[in-house]
Amino acid sequence: MNIVLFGAPAAGKGTQARILTSEYGFIQLSTGDILRSISKSDTDLAKKILSILKNGGLVSDEIVTELIEKKIKAFGSTKDYIFDGFPRTLSQAEALDRILMLYHQKIDEVIYLSVDNEVLIKRIQKRYQEEQRSDDNPEAFKVRLSNYEDQTRPLLEHYQEQNKLSVIDGMLDIDTVSLKIAEVLALDNAMKVRKC
Ligand code: AMP
Repeated sequence: MNIVLFGAPAAGKGTQARILTSEYGFIQLSTGDILRSISKSDTDLAKKILSILKNGGLVSDEIVTELIEKKIKAFGSTKDYIFDGFPRTLSQAEALDRILMLYHQKIDEVIYLSVDNEVLIKRIQKRYQEEQRSDDNPEAFKVRLSNYEDQTRPLLEHYQEQNKLSVIDGMLDIDTVSLKIAEVLALDNAMKVRKC
C-alpha cells in the first residue's frame, strides 16, 4: 500500500510517518529529510539546495522527482511507501503517478492532516526554539506556508477527484491521530511489525 501524508509544514507528517514506519513496516520517503542530508555535502548542488531550504523555497520539481525515483528504484517496487512532503506541486503528483505506474503501483490513499494556521505557527515557534532548524525561522516559515497555500494545497482537489482523500484532524494528540490513520488505512494489530 502506498500512502501520501499530506499537510502544511508542521502538520505532523514526519511524526506520523515515523510511527507508521516503526509500527507497520512502511518505508518513509521524506523529500525534506533527503534534501537536508544532501545539503550537508560539499557540492554545487548541495550549496544550491541549502540556500533554497534556508529561504523556505521549493526545490525544483525535476530534482525532487529524480530523488524519489532513485529511492523507489533502490528499495524496489514491492514495498509499502509513505510519501512525506512529496508531492508538493501538481507536476510532482503527476510525476509520482507515472513513476509508480512503471512498477505497476499507485497511490492508494492520501491522508490530509488538517491543522489551523495559528496552531502551525505556534508549533513552528516552539520547534525553532528547541531545534534551531534554519528553515523554521519566522521569515522562512512565512514563505513555506505561502508556498503550501499556493502550490501544494490545490493538490487536495486533485486527490479528492481521484477519491483517495481522507481528512484527519491533525490538532488531536499524536496517539489519537495515529489511531485514526490506522483506522482509515484499515491497519490492525495483526499487521504490526513484531519487535523482539
Ligand atoms: P519538509 O521537511 O518536508 O518541511 O521540507 C523542508 C524543505 O525541503 C522545504 O521547505 C523545501 O524547501 C524542501 N522540500 C521538501 N520537499 C519538497 C518537495 N516535494 N518539493 C520541493 N521542495 C521540497
